[in-house]
Amino acid sequence: MIDYIIPLFEDANIYFIQGQNGGRVPYSNCVVMGDYIIDTGISPVRLKRLKKKFVLKNLCFSHWHDDHIRDCKNFVHLPFYCHPEARPIIEDIDKLLDLYNIRNSPAEKPFKLFLSQIIDAYGVKIAGTFEHNEVITIDNGLEVHILYTPGHSKGHCIFHIPELKFAFIGDIDLSKFGPWYGGIDSDIIKFMVSIDTISKLNLETVVTGHRGLVKGKDVIQQELEKYKAIFKRRERMIMDLLSPEEPRNPKDLLEKNIIYKRYEFLKPFLLAMEQTMIQKHFDKLIAEHKIAQEDEGFVLV
Ligand SMILES: [Zn+2]
Repeated sequence: MIDYIIPLFEDANIYFIQGQNGGRVPYSNCVVMGDYIIDTGISPVRLKRLKKKFVLKNLCFSHWHDDHIRDCKNFVHLPFYCHPEARPIIEDIDKLLDLYNIRNSPAEKPFKLFLSQIIDAYGVKIAGTFEHNEVITIDNGLEVHILYTPGHSKGHCIFHIPELKFAFIGDIDLSKFGPWYGGIDSDIIKFMVSIDTISKLNLETVVTGHRGLVKGKDVIQQELEKYKAIFKRRERMIMDLLSPEEPRNPKDLLEKNIIYKRYEFLKPFLLAMEQTMIQKHFDKLIAEHKIAQEDEGFVLV
């Protein structure tokens, strides 16, 4: 079995920790940098092993999503840090019901059960926050630059070590699925700007929240471009389903595989996410004057 604790550099204490099931949702990957751990979505068993193997003194969250903060109570003895926008959400995870827009929907009850039985992050306290461009110093004076990269969610940050040409880029995750923006706090334009921010960094190694390790300057650039192109592909599918005559709304475009390929797992939840993501495209298309409201829906301009 390949170990899930993967040292990334010979002369620096930076480790890629792969989450259970290859870091796929509802798990995620995390990174250990010196005495910092970033995110806790790998699984309780894996977190317990990290506790034994490393001397960890600080815990940072890349963002507030449940698959990144799950099981964090395993490290309740450490101070937790996050971006100020993520703080009120992590400290009150019932807010996820509103951010995923599933309150009073068929997805509310099963998701609440999932939060209490699986995610287990009720009652978490954040000790402090970090801002854009904040620098933390780990072993041997190695600097980690925290960059605010919103769009996927409010308060999403990446962790960049310029000296090693390395970054943990969280859920700008370079997955085949593509960018996810199913929270009401998500924003396509900001997400695209954040991808461009990463493209401008001189990176040779990245770890992402779900795909894991990606190496090579050219490969990283190509993967970022491919990932960003998925916004366009989805937008084209949406435009193809709209017409100048017949007004339509995001909910009319559900279950057409614009976002999800399958709808079996927790279907009401997936449909809520899909509707929000299509709504985000509508918001962008309205701002660009490509669609306009007519009667109860939207038509091509
Ligand atoms: Zn996320």
